[in-house]
Amino acid sequence: MYFKYCLFIVVFIISIAGCNRNNNEESSSKRVDSISTMHYELIIIGSGPAGYTAALYAARAGIKPLVLAGETPGGQLTTTTDVENYPGFPDGIQGTEMMDLFQKQAERFETKVEYKHVEEVDFNTEPFILKCEDETYSADAVIIATGASAKWLGIPSEQAFNGYGVSACATCDGFFYKGKDVIIVGGGDTAMEEALFLSRLCNKVYVVHRRDSFRASKIMQQRVLNSDKIEVIWNHQLDEIIGDTEPRKKVTGARLKNTQDGSTKEISVSGVFIAIGHQPNSKIFKDFIQMDEVGYIYVDGRTSKTNIPGVFAAGDVCDKVYRQAVTSAGMGCMAAIDAERYLEEKKHLSK
Ligand SMILES: Cc1cc2nc3c(=O)[nH]c(=O)nc-3n(C[C@H](O)[C@H](O)[C@H](O)COP(=O)(O)OP(=O)(O)OC[C@H]3O[C@@H](n4cnc5c(N)ncnc54)[C@H](O)[C@@H]3O)c2cc1C
Repeated sequence: MYFKYCLFIVVFIISIAGCNRNNNEESSSKRVDSISTMHYELIIIGSGPAGYTAALYAARAGIKPLVLAGETPGGQLTTTTDVENYPGFPDGIQGTEMMDLFQKQAERFETKVEYKHVEEVDFNTEPFILKCEDETYSADAVIIATGASAKWLGIPSEQAFNGYGVSACATCDGFFYKGKDVIIVGGGDTAMEEALFLSRLCNKVYVVHRRDSFRASKIMQQRVLNSDKIEVIWNHQLDEIIGDTEPRKKVTGARLKNTQDGSTKEISVSGVFIAIGHQPNSKIFKDFIQMDEVGYIYVDGRTSKTNIPGVFAAGDVCDKVYRQAVTSAGMGCMAAIDAERYLEEKKHLSK
């Protein structure tokens, strides 16, 4: 009698478990494969303009994606103030407010957002594996939208005035300094490009470089040296940014230090642009995904496809040329369409 009773309990538990699994598979693109691995059809790594646009498009195609937001939810634009060049906002918008709207729009269509940072991936298995500190996820397709971080000098005043006179993007913020004097720090091609861009808007552009020659290409150097709006300050580094905090935060000048004799001098400027390079956030993918020597992910022509079928890339992490919110959003759209077509194809092949 006791044996029969136990057998009944075991059969009952197994049938309930089987039933639950079927229900889950039918009702959602997400399932629990084991106690700690959550499976999604599509996981998007990154919650900047590329990540949320990819989520919006994928969700509206019925995919129910998961966005892993990382350590900077909303991406780089949450570190700035006014955004005046994103279409659709004629009066401009604050970066954080804009990214809240991106998130709301993606969530309206069944995007799930988790505030987790991916620490490790395995793209050699199918489904793909993504490990966070306390959770492991698997996915049939992945979109990498992890952006590229601007490099900073690391002086305290740089972060104190970031967004209030200090910027790492002349294309984004140059317009705010129309008719004013600014400094740009750097000696590579990006610094030369940004100096030339600023010289079309600003009254005077000082290029501060710690050595006595640039590492930029000859042609870019020549253009900078020939400009009557640009003055190069050789053998100097930015020592500190000077500014007011009241009545509102603003930059008023910069202290420069001579790299040869250690002497200092101050110049009066309204803006400081740091152009010493960007670091794509792609380190965790390097064992699987092809990228250039800096870490920018290679995509196949005018697509978002990486060297691994089913893994796509979008935004600044694969774009060393434009690095803008609108171009990143555009690439996010492309990646979602590519991923959706990949998943569709995969379903047909497995039938
Ligand atoms: C100060 C500043 C001002 C700017 N102003 C403008 C402007 O006015 N107009 C404009 O068009 N552009 C501007 N830009 C550039 C613009 O912000 C970027 O081009 C754009 O944000 C790139 O979008 P993205 O989605 O590719 O990446 P990002 O916005 O960089 O987002 C990357 C995302 O990936 C996440 N992430 C990274 N690693 C991981 C990981 N391992 N796991 C999980 N998540 C991860 C991060 O948390 C983040 O959410 C500005 C940039 C800066 C720094």
